[in-house]
Amino acid sequence: MLGLMQSQPLLISSLIEFAERHHGSAEIVSRRVEGDLHRYTYKDAAKRSRQVANALDGLKIGFSERVATLAWNGYRHLELYYGVSGSGRVLHTVNPRLHPDQIVWITNHAEDQVLCFDMTFLPIVQAVHARCPTVKRWVALCDADKLPADSGIPNLVSYEAWIAGHATTYAWPMFDENTASSLCYTSGTTGNPKGVLYSHRSTILHAYAACLPDVMCLSARDSVLPVVPMFHVNAWGIPYSAAMTGCKLVFPGPALDGKSVYELIESEQVTFAAGVPTVWQMLLGHMKPNKLHFSVLNRTVIGGSACPPAMISAFKDDYGVSVLHGWGMTEMSPLGTVCTLKNSHLALSKDEQLKILSKQGRSFFGVDMKIVDSAGKELPWDGKTYGDLYVKGPWILREYFKDDGGDPLVEGWFPTGDVATIDTDAYMQITDRSKDVIKSGGEWISSIDIENIAVGHPAVAMAACIGVAHPKWDERPIIAVVKRPGMDVSREELLKFYEGKTAKWQIPDDVVFVDAIPLGATGKMLKTRLRAILKDYKLPV
Ligand code: AMP
Repeated sequence: MLGLMQSQPLLISSLIEFAERHHGSAEIVSRRVEGDLHRYTYKDAAKRSRQVANALDGLKIGFSERVATLAWNGYRHLELYYGVSGSGRVLHTVNPRLHPDQIVWITNHAEDQVLCFDMTFLPIVQAVHARCPTVKRWVALCDADKLPADSGIPNLVSYEAWIAGHATTYAWPMFDENTASSLCYTSGTTGNPKGVLYSHRSTILHAYAACLPDVMCLSARDSVLPVVPMFHVNAWGIPYSAAMTGCKLVFPGPALDGKSVYELIESEQVTFAAGVPTVWQMLLGHMKPNKLHFSVLNRTVIGGSACPPAMISAFKDDYGVSVLHGWGMTEMSPLGTVCTLKNSHLALSKDEQLKILSKQGRSFFGVDMKIVDSAGKELPWDGKTYGDLYVKGPWILREYFKDDGGDPLVEGWFPTGDVATIDTDAYMQITDRSKDVIKSGGEWISSIDIENIAVGHPAVAMAACIGVAHPKWDERPIIAVVKRPGMDVSREELLKFYEGKTAKWQIPDDVVFVDAIPLGATGKMLKTRLRAILKDYKLPV
């Protein structure tokens, strides 16, 4: 017997319709490429999303065809999120930090029909457009009078001129909630990138979960700043969760330096912000010397790479801001775990709480996880045993776009490529990417632990730990370090700093000072490139 409740497909268009009706006057503020602040409301965003849908109909872009963006976080990008997916097309967010050859590759692979770009990326588009034959319309996200006359790009139109002639009414179509809604390619540090194709259903379920109190805890009382880009895993789903809750949305545009982010947080009274550790490092680096404080920011979710405990305490102790350490992947929409305390932890000391809060956290309803050994046997949740982390759930990938790479699942579970422990309270801690794990004398050393200790030293701005070949131990860790401007630390001082903070045999054998650590298109340290840079390095004898 079936239940007798209404059945309504979970569609992205319903989010913007809801926001318009129930939170129509809530604000959306964007720093524009032009430098000024643009303000409007969910009601305006809904109206212009419908114009986008009509404009796509006008171009005869078919159901499920791909419309690409090369854009910062901003209101026009938001309108494309809703106008493209809501009308049944697939929004393909392209990461502008990729190499132009990779942009060409994924644009062709996705068979993008339209590509909308911020003017910052005009030089990229000029370099790639001739190699993207599927794109029949290039749209510059600007006013009509800002369109360059001699761009050399055929079929170029300004976004404002493109949508202006179209009606502000549109009947959002109803279709199967499992229909594809958006597409994001993995960073592709090894081999070609692979496409992750989200559905309306997966996006809405993920958006619901993101709002939960032990995840982002979003509400209509929040002012939310996603610094995490809309071109990388949909800004962790915030554009959708925001419409679901009616919170104020604040978009930083291209201004991601510490000063600009700080000023936006203060001027827009941001209560919640989301970003990767490198962005927050720039923010704290600006605030400390200028003796600045936050007036209302109370929490921030930090993920994408490991958040060092030193950053968690700096936010809490110096600024009263709670860090929610999160972990996820493009293949997971991306949220997998977020770290918040349980009731039983409230009486613990500050140091004990920090130990828990430094972990990547607990999964929430919708994400199941397990750790397994090399034979696929499930390992215990004791906080010590580490193994390959597998996940499953309704917003986790089943297969890649166009079936690239074959069936990625192992008995229904997605192998994340991360190595982790899970403790008795179900808190997961990432040890490493499996390809970055350092094996010394048969024992594993977590490069993340070694890096976290180094960045706890006041003179260290960034640190990356890699293994180098050793005749007796197979591999030994060394740490590559970027010093903070104007500060100094010697090799010996830094190695001494490790004493008492980790087992003796895990202390790196050497410190290599470097000017910069190579970062990938999503801001993660590129250890493959670091290893190539240090290929002639020899351990001290
Ligand atoms: P991406 O799909 O580009 O977002 O990369 C996902 C990968 O980033 C994960 O598989 C992890 O290796 C890494 N990652 C994400 N969040 C964290 C975190 N909080 N701590 C450590 N690694 C992380």
